Amino acid sequence: MIKFKNYYEILGVTPDSSNAEIKSAYRRLARKYHPDVNPSTAELFKDITEAYTTLINSEKRRQYNILNGFFEKQKTNTSSQKAEQEYKEKTATEPNKKQEKDIKSDFGQKQKKHSEKVFADTINDIFKEFTKKEQKKPEPQNGADITADVTINIAEALKGTERTVNVLHTKLCPKCQGRKFINGSKCSACDGKGEVSEHRKITVKIPAKIKNGTKLRVKGEGNPGKFGGKNGDLYLNINIQGNSKIKYDGLNVYYEVPITPFEAVLGGEIVVNTLEGNIRLKIPARTNSGQKFRLSGQGVKQKNKSGDIIVTVHIEIPQSLSDDEIKLYEKLKKASSHNVRENLLND
Ligand SMILES: [Zn+2]
Repeated sequence: MIKFKNYYEILGVTPDSSNAEIKSAYRRLARKYHPDVNPSTAELFKDITEAYTTLINSEKRRQYNILNGFFEKQKTNTSSQKAEQEYKEKTATEPNKKQEKDIKSDFGQKQKKHSEKVFADTINDIFKEFTKKEQKKPEPQNGADITADVTINIAEALKGTERTVNVLHTKLCPKCQGRKFINGSKCSACDGKGEVSEHRKITVKIPAKIKNGTKLRVKGEGNPGKFGGKNGDLYLNINIQGNSKIKYDGLNVYYEVPITPFEAVLGGEIVVNTLEGNIRLKIPARTNSGQKFRLSGQGVKQKNKSGDIIVTVHIEIPQSLSDDEIKLYEKLKKASSHNVRENLLND
């Protein structure tokens, strides 16, 4: 059963009002009660639009007038008004009230469907001048992820650390709630952008033994979602700052590794303690200082890619030598006949 609504009263017009007056009344009410302007008046605005879509359409207005006993006084009797009058008289004298009720509810059903269909068109028409973006109810939008770079040193990478990062968040403008306009004029708080920026300090724990280039995800600390959407995530790109022995370059890691004189001469397998784990490196016999070894695929791993470890060996003379070692070096000196400097000027 459709409840009777006085469309004229809703729009603040009379049964004599012209289409121009009805349109202007609707425009005025829409500015005040459109849910984009005032969400709490959505129901009222629905009635306003229902009244408007009915009264602006001459055929629908005629039927509405017939069913609810309204007359347009100032017009001369047209044939359609004559029909109205006849219909009115007929229904007024009709003893069977149920029939009228059926007609009414049937009309109501049809009208409801139709008014839903024309609803969007009407809004578009009226709001063209207002703003195009306010035509639809805002859809939930998930907040964007934010990426920030964090540089830590090797000791911090080994032991784990904590960092406070200053993140620039973009959030919904609290004044206009992202609608950009308030009562038809640009929101002053966001200058019509619908969102505002805000710095936020976020303290993040960086776990021990973290690898260079790790993307650390901090859930929900990205940009806030809008209109009920989910918050984005914050991603921290961890950069490990090298030292005199270790350098990071993308996925590759460069190590300066000391070897002893006898390892250089005799060769052998050495174990190098790296952030990527312990690596075993075969040193060939007669290895010189400055020689490079590439360990393919053992560098930083990211998704499907992995970098290399490039080891540069340096012969390091131990600063504390035992008497036995000194004696052996002296023996070595006597046994050696090769002059390492003989080609100094010939090269
Ligand atoms: Zn705003």
